[in-house]
Amino acid sequence: PRVIIADEPTSGLDAEVKIEILHLIKEKVTGNRTLFLITHDLGTASFLCTRLVVMYAGEIVETGPTKEVLSRPFHPYTKGLLASLPSAGLNTIPGTSPSPSSLPAGCRFSERCIAAMERCRKEHPPMKEVGDNRQVRCFLYD
Ligand code: SF4
Repeated sequence: PRVIIADEPTSGLDAEVKIEILHLIKEKVTGNRTLFLITHDLGTASFLCTRLVVMYAGEIVETGPTKEVLSRPFHPYTKGLLASLPSAGLNTIPGTSPSPSSLPAGCRFSERCIAAMERCRKEHPPMKEVGDNRQVRCFLYD
């Protein structure tokens, strides 16, 4: 196939089988074949993907080359995800994701964001270019 879509392909697998599956996928994504990986596992994304798209509450909040996003995240949600990894101390993001039927009026992350400003609760931030091949949806970069 020209495109492979893998939705949480290693979820629930033990470490050994997971590594086998990841290598198998990597082996199959050659030439002009494209992989769309849907995952909560940043390690898996880092291993398989050249470009990362971070989503929160149904919308894209940050995109860019995988290595750059993971080493220098811009969006507070991306920063929170990285801080919640075991290697970073398992710091949780306070609160829970909003229900799709009652999304906040402004930024969808505003109720959980430690950097939220007054404006964030009223206006919905657009995606903004923030350098080489990177975009973020956050008023901190206006
Ligand atoms: S727009 Fe405001 S609330 Fe939303 S992520 Fe940026 S700082 Fe936080």
